[in-house]
Amino acid sequence: MRLSWRRSSRIEDRFEAWITQQHQQRVLAGETTPTGSCPDDGFLLDLARKSKSIGLSDPRIDHAANCPKCMSRLLEVRERNRTRRQRLAFTAAIAACALIAVSVVVARYALEKRPSSANETVVAQTVNLWDSGTVRGEQPGQLESVSLPAALVRVTIILPRHSTPGLYLVAITRDQNGNGIVAEGTSTTVANGEQQEITTGLDLRKAAAGPYFLSTTHEQDQAAYYYPLQIR
Ligand SMILES: [Zn+2]
Repeated sequence: MRLSWRRSSRIEDRFEAWITQQHQQRVLAGETTPTGSCPDDGFLLDLARKSKSIGLSDPRIDHAANCPKCMSRLLEVRERNRTRRQRLAFTAAIAACALIAVSVVVARYALEKRPSSANETVVAQTVNLWDSGTVRGEQPGQLESVSLPAALVRVTIILPRHSTPGLYLVAITRDQNGNGIVAEGTSTTVANGEQQEITTGLDLRKAAAGPYFLSTTHEQDQAAYYYPLQIR
């Protein structure tokens, strides 16, 4: 029932469109006689926009509907509005696509940047160098070897006896000449009784397991002390 009504309505629409077209052709061919003079362009623009400010009894509508000049102007305005609407719709679609693309990129980036919780865990370690010698150039072979995990390490170093308080540079190096720095950090000493402690973060996540050196350098002394270190 509703379907057949809809179908007949569509046929009526097409019929009306056909009549309108026939009428337009007649008007444009100059086969009709308009009454009165041509209205101003503003009125024609309003009419093309189907503005509600125009009353249906307005005699200018009757004129425009029968004047070839006004009719062609109306068709021209309507065509221009249609293209503009299409362009707006196109721009909106492009903008929507760009927005989707941006959110996809942002989401992917956020996903990649999210570190796995295991890798991000900070391991606290204490390295006690209290009884290690501070003699420069001393063979570190005799010193107690220190071991750190290949992780984000928050290391607290108890500096050797008689160490100078102040700012220290802590580094993990490949050899005891300071070559091949794997990680480094700085820290100011904190007194703990007789002992001087420094605490710094070291990112050892990319370090391969093996032998390294832990070095401490006092900012004013500039001489680095190396201690053998194992990364496990
Ligand atoms: Zn006219």
